[in-house]
Amino acid sequence: MGWDRHRLVAGRPCLLGGVRFEDCPVGPLGHSDGDAAAHAVVDALLGAAALGDIGRHFPDDDPAWAGADSLDLLARATALVRAAGWRVGNVDLTLILERPRIAPAAGRMRAALAGALGVGPEVVSIKATRGEGLGPEGRGECVTAMAVALLLPAARGAEGDPA
Ligand code: MG
Repeated sequence: MGWDRHRLVAGRPCLLGGVRFEDCPVGPLGHSDGDAAAHAVVDALLGAAALGDIGRHFPDDDPAWAGADSLDLLARATALVRAAGWRVGNVDLTLILERPRIAPAAGRMRAALAGALGVGPEVVSIKATRGEGLGPEGRGECVTAMAVALLLPAARGAEGDPA
């Protein structure tokens, strides 16, 4: 399970799930590119493999990760998980935000995340909901992302394998 929240501010590129929303006037603030969606997936993967969290591997006080491409962080996290003997079974991501609208970009977001995860888009799920005027999401102040990842032992559990 992974959870992340970033403030949405004017003057930042709006990048979520590896997709750039050109028409959105606000974007996630962060040490990296601020992509809360990708960050939640990173934490879901690392958590499922008991490898710690995003802050341990990519500290936000380390200049090396300033402005980092979060899809690159996701690919690196995927490599760590693979090295520990796991493969990605599926990922389910929920975004809570007022803007931008996710639905029109969900297909591109699935493809972008799947590319970084090294899986097909059919095992990457994107859902989005709004805050209904309540809380910081409802006021449009932030984006919150929650992700769940299923990891399978790399050596077994392949398709068609009853293991
Ligand atoms: Mg983050």
